Amino acid sequence: MNSPLHAENLESIVFDNRFVNELPGDPVKENRRHQVHGACYTRVRPAKVSSPKLLAYSAEVVKLMGLSHQTDISNNFAELFSGNRLLQNMDPYAMCYGGHQFGNWAGQLGDGRAINLGEIINARNEHWTLQLKGAGATPYSRSADGLAVLRSSIREFLCSEAMHHLGIPTTRALSLVSTGETVIRDMFYDGHPKEEPGAVVCRVSPSFIRFGNFEILTSRGETNLLQQLIDFTIRTDFPHLGKPSTATYLQWFSEICRTTAEMIIHWMRVGFVHGVMNTDNMSILGLTIDYGPYGWLENFDPNWTPNTTDSHGRRYCFKNQPHIGQWNLLQLANSIYPVINDTVPLQECLNIYTETFQKGWNEMMANKLGFNSFEPQTDNGLISELTDILQLVETDMTIFYRNLSRLNIHPDRKETTSILTPLLDAYYQPEQLTEEYKNRIGNWLQNYIHRSRQEGVSIKERCKRMNGVNPKYVLRNYIAQLAIDKAENGDPSMVSELLEVFRHPYDEQPENETFAEKRPEWARNRPGCSMLSCSS
Ligand code: AMP
Ligand code: MG
Repeated sequence: MNSPLHAENLESIVFDNRFVNELPGDPVKENRRHQVHGACYTRVRPAKVSSPKLLAYSAEVVKLMGLSHQTDISNNFAELFSGNRLLQNMDPYAMCYGGHQFGNWAGQLGDGRAINLGEIINARNEHWTLQLKGAGATPYSRSADGLAVLRSSIREFLCSEAMHHLGIPTTRALSLVSTGETVIRDMFYDGHPKEEPGAVVCRVSPSFIRFGNFEILTSRGETNLLQQLIDFTIRTDFPHLGKPSTATYLQWFSEICRTTAEMIIHWMRVGFVHGVMNTDNMSILGLTIDYGPYGWLENFDPNWTPNTTDSHGRRYCFKNQPHIGQWNLLQLANSIYPVINDTVPLQECLNIYTETFQKGWNEMMANKLGFNSFEPQTDNGLISELTDILQLVETDMTIFYRNLSRLNIHPDRKETTSILTPLLDAYYQPEQLTEEYKNRIGNWLQNYIHRSRQEGVSIKERCKRMNGVNPKYVLRNYIAQLAIDKAENGDPSMVSELLEVFRHPYDEQPENETFAEKRPEWARNRPGCSMLSCSS
């Protein structure tokens, strides 16, 4: 792939590395695993790789970064975004954070396989941190190698961009580079390690600070540094809150409660399951971050989790995400307690989470059903009955909601075909559609049509609105896996092809109908499609 960067521009990129300039760094200079005290990061260099190749890039993110988007035959792009070449004004570092993993305090975690290159300032005067994922070991790598494999890098690259275009707050992805190195992974931790191709994703975000960055400082009793990091975060990422004070800290925390609730409502809207909602994977900006064993609900099963590591407890299954968001915020509240010293206002902020969630959830569900607003008297019953019905037989969530907009709700509708006809595509096993089932959903549809007519919007307008919140294209696991299989066989072209499809997830794309199909039978139990692990 040709480089999207113009070589002459590289040294003129403006960096303003506030995180390292304004916060204390690790006094230990060598890159060896250790506990990092009294510091927010360690300066490290990305590992050199033998033959980096650019496999895909997001032209939009290139532009957002203010990087010139000209075709250039030089190999600068791969060299830069594999970590082989550093620009003069980059100041690479790995962040120190801790986290609660699966409900238990796990101590120091940190950027074990992520290295921040620096903060770019673009033409709009925005700061964007560039971060390489899979660029080699850091002091935070614990027993692992700091590398990433191609399959998980493709998944991160595509999903970040797909989420953005679904209108969901997320970190973005600039590029996908293969390293030419092999990486050993035991994908299911079952004693079958394999050599896999290595890769590096360059992801970008206004900030990569997580709940865990604060938790680690409090766990160590480093209250001064905690306050310094909070002040820094407010100054850089929440400047509208003004000068830091106890009142500002509480406003800040309530904003995090709100944005986290909004993010999770979006996940529930599109059937996204993060898979590892540990507190170290929770962004302080309410962005979806760390795409690992995530997945999309295909048949609507609220207990589903894509993460095999979580298949027993199902802590992070679809339906638990709202509750886990709140639990994680409680951990953040505990960690900032030393600068507030009062639990009452913190609890009030946590209540904002519940209120935002409940209100947002009702509105979101009403919008999915094509209603202007949520009417508790009718809609509570409609939504809860629908949630039960969707679980009675294997029903594809995405196709069901999308096709609901095709229902003929016109008052003088002629019953020439079954009321269920527009929804038939959503069923995985048509033989499950018993008379009893058809009666139950038939009743629901009658009530739903009755309710829809009260909205007084034209059929066309209703369809347009519904299609704006019920996506046609979501990055189903099997689709990502098709791109991975091809790329592992030497042809990465499908990654760019999918990137383009998922730039318009709400549009009808007749030429890409195949990517809107429900999961084929071959993918039902295939690793990578139905089962994933953290091994990436
Ligand atoms: P995750 O479950 O991916 O959020 O990772 C949890 C922690 O493990 C983070 O501190 C990661 O940086 C670290 N980690 C995960 N995979 C690797 C790896 N291959 N090498 C080094 N550290 C890793
Ligand atoms: Mg993580």
